[in-house]
Amino acid sequence: QDPVPSDIAVSRSQMPKHVQELAKELNLLPEEIDFYGKTKAKISLSVLDRLKGQPNGKYVVVTGITPTPLGEGKSTTTIGLTQALGAELHRNVFACVRQPSQGPTFGIKGGAAGGGYSQVIPMEEFNLHLTGDIHAVTAANNLLAAAIDARMFHESTQSDKALYGRLVPSKKGKREFSNIQFKRLKKLGIDKTDPNELTEEEINKFARLDIDTSTITWQRVMDTNDRFLRKITIGQSPTEKGKTRETQFDITVASEIMAVLALTTDLKDMRERLGKMVIASDNKGNPVTADDIGVGGALTVLMKDAIKPNLMQTLEGNPVFVHAGPFANIAHGNSSILADRIALQLVGEEGFVVTEAGFGADIGMEKFFNIKCRYSGLVPNAVVLVATVRALKMHGGGPVVTAGQPLAREYTEENLELIEKGFSNLRKQIENATYFGVPVVVAVNGFATDTLPELELVQRLSKEHGAFDAVISTHWAEGGKGAKNLAEAVIKACEQPSNFQFLYELKLPIAEKIAIIAKKIYGADGIELLEEAQKKVDLYTAQGFSDLPICMAKTHLSLTHQPDRKGAPTGFILPIRDVRASVGAGFLFPLVGTMSTMPGLPTRPCFFDIDLDPETEQVEGLF
Ligand code: ADP
Repeated sequence: QDPVPSDIAVSRSQMPKHVQELAKELNLLPEEIDFYGKTKAKISLSVLDRLKGQPNGKYVVVTGITPTPLGEGKSTTTIGLTQALGAELHRNVFACVRQPSQGPTFGIKGGAAGGGYSQVIPMEEFNLHLTGDIHAVTAANNLLAAAIDARMFHESTQSDKALYGRLVPSKKGKREFSNIQFKRLKKLGIDKTDPNELTEEEINKFARLDIDTSTITWQRVMDTNDRFLRKITIGQSPTEKGKTRETQFDITVASEIMAVLALTTDLKDMRERLGKMVIASDNKGNPVTADDIGVGGALTVLMKDAIKPNLMQTLEGNPVFVHAGPFANIAHGNSSILADRIALQLVGEEGFVVTEAGFGADIGMEKFFNIKCRYSGLVPNAVVLVATVRALKMHGGGPVVTAGQPLAREYTEENLELIEKGFSNLRKQIENATYFGVPVVVAVNGFATDTLPELELVQRLSKEHGAFDAVISTHWAEGGKGAKNLAEAVIKACEQPSNFQFLYELKLPIAEKIAIIAKKIYGADGIELLEEAQKKVDLYTAQGFSDLPICMAKTHLSLTHQPDRKGAPTGFILPIRDVRASVGAGFLFPLVGTMSTMPGLPTRPCFFDIDLDPETEQVEGLF
């Protein structure tokens, strides 16, 4: 009945061009390209120096209504729009998307290359190891984790003198500090350059980080949904002399290092960010950083290739950067600043860069503007807000959808009333985008079961409630051709003057910044800082971190803190349970309720269907 084959079948039906050809079309120089096989390449940051001073292309961010299990199709729309701008309207264009975690690929969601005739290809390369960036993040994250526990172990088992002697070894009777150690001395206010001149007291101060174990926020990570690692006890071998500690594994994309990769602007900046990541407080309440542990340089070495964006292509041969994949709930959920910057230069003044922000506009888009654009300095020209008839029906009170069960009649038959009710969510998300002064084009992502009156209703209501335009788009079924009208609307929106502005000033107190987001973006009446959150607000203010932007860690399934509240609820107070700091990445993240940082596997995970055909060496069953 459905004429569109499976995502992997569509992906495989198109032979991708050699990435060398793609690089040639982009006028990249041979020295700017590192090939990873025939369909992927890393692009050197030196492109930015070569093109320095050239005007950027237009910058378009794709976001969506509050997600439902019915799927909205943000990635599919990002790619469909890119294909339409390229093949249909003959513009230079680049798509920028995140690298997916292998957790969801083998767990519940499946891949994230888009779908139907709007995909990044080859989708198995995209969804699996890509060029190893996530693995690099895992390696760097776990090196730091190991360094923390080893350091605490050595501090607890060695005398001041012995510890100092090992930290600053003696070469031919002369001790020498490393550069990082010099920095640490300066931070401690010890103004000596000759290690041999340190007093006993200074030696103690220098050699001991005195980490308060109860304040450690750095966890181990891996890129697998492994629920049994959510809470673990480490150090149980007798060799660790009883230094056991309860800790946890998070999924790699939740690592602060992933957020650093996404927000960094060059190698020097990445080195600084990695060094200043705070992993705990010491017993006096001072922050302890990766550089205090002495590992910032080594982390940078592990990340030196990952910093380069990965070049791939759409089904219709347009360039795509796949780079970084921070979680959208506990981190900021956007692909890298570097990919967007390079793409904006490569497309030139008349060109377009379509970048995707994770989850709904209240989450990914808000963070795109307030965090990503603040660090990049880039000014967006238009927002594409993706909505579907089915998801709006669910926001309007349609029945809950259970995976594996057939869809209820409400979703397969015309029902204008449910759409009208559920439009409250789209209306709120349009409003959210307009707070930032950027024109909004609503993309109604058409499904085979939608009726024309349903699609036109969403279109009409959107235009009546603040959207610059609203367009029905059929790129999933038709590729770029199906998004031609959407692309034309986006071009017009980008011709409007951009009055881009941030939602809050960084100088405001932490609680005030959180309250602005809660009231304006979520529609809350206010916030309630619970005891632990208040303590952390005081701590981070005392430690000098209060000027950082805010990265709300909230469920993506509702505008509120309660996942089952659909539509656009009002009259609620947002409870803030705790606040954490990602000082290296550069944001504070308030925890609204409990957020899982390690997904689990369902009863019937995606890996059941995944296999390799030994004859053809082809991957089967990815979607
Ligand atoms: P998001 O980025 O919002 O999570 P995706 O673009 O990854 O959503 O799409 C989720 C799934 O829905 C994909 O498997 C995709 O093939 C499917 N999908 C998207 N748009 C349509 C459509 N118009 N018709 C049918 N399936 C679609």
